[in-house]
Amino acid sequence: MNISKIGFIGLGKMGIPMAQNLIKAGYELFVYNRSVAKADGLIAQGAKSVNKPSDLLKPCEVVILMVADDKATSDIIKGENGLINSASAGKIIINMSTVSPAISKEMTTLLAQKGAFYIDAPVSGSLKQAIEGSLVIMAGGDKAAFEKVKPIFDVLGKLALQVGEIGAGNSAKLAINALLSFHAQGLAEVVSFAKQQGIETKDLLELINNSALGNVFMKIKGDAILQENYNAVFALKHIAKDLGLAKAEGLNSPLANAAYASFKNAEQELGEEDIIAILKKV
Ligand code: NAP
Repeated sequence: MNISKIGFIGLGKMGIPMAQNLIKAGYELFVYNRSVAKADGLIAQGAKSVNKPSDLLKPCEVVILMVADDKATSDIIKGENGLINSASAGKIIINMSTVSPAISKEMTTLLAQKGAFYIDAPVSGSLKQAIEGSLVIMAGGDKAAFEKVKPIFDVLGKLALQVGEIGAGNSAKLAINALLSFHAQGLAEVVSFAKQQGIETKDLLELINNSALGNVFMKIKGDAILQENYNAVFALKHIAKDLGLAKAEGLNSPLANAAYASFKNAEQELGEEDIIAILKKV
């Protein structure tokens, strides 16, 4: 049976465009967000809102989470009005948030008691890719459940790859985000260094973007630097969280340790700004 009704929890920077793409693709969408007003735009586009997470599993076969972290995941699944209260055989919970492999394993075990499935399916890509439906999705968990929801992933992303058992998607995502932090820290450091040497930032960025080191990330963050626009596309607090999760999983290497120290140090002051606001600290 094809999936036609999807529940969506977490209408933040990423969640809203992802939800919009599902509506555009013809799915009937039911949404929940802790801050209720964030659902208004989607309701105007045809989504139905519910008052609590557990209401979603009555109409929907599948519920997607795109929330901040492990705590949000736990609150939404295990909390008073959590999904566990209405989970039943065959329902599929897809967590696309960047969370720890440990919470994915815990939630899988919990939901399995009701015969429901949990797939960890975090994403690489940011706001632009969420809007375009060109995210890169890395999944772990039950293979048959993955195949069943693959058409949903094909709406949200340009690649959906199952990389292993439950939590494997989270591990892959933590590896990728460690690399992301190195790029952000590195770009900030060389922009700062070159400026001290009298090189104009726009010239340096033009050189980088035309060299073998140019990539989408450098282009987008370079433009943000030139416009002095540090509004969060990917909030700095999230990369501090992700490096913390990676370290908890055993990442303990020179660059990772330095990046973790740098972003953790900046988090209190710049946590709500974009990751590239780290430039202010180098
Ligand atoms: P965001 O804009 O900060 O949105 C976070 C969402 O989580 C909001 O809907 C928020 O609800 C909800 N939330 C937080 N704590 C909660 C709790 N205890 N209970 C219920 N809901 C809770 O984050 P985002 O940028 O969309 O990112 C979402 C996830 O994707 C994060 O794990 C992030 O690391 C990951 N990610 C982000 C990007 C990016 O470029 N932004 C890229 C890839 C992956 P409220 O509205 O009520 O606060």
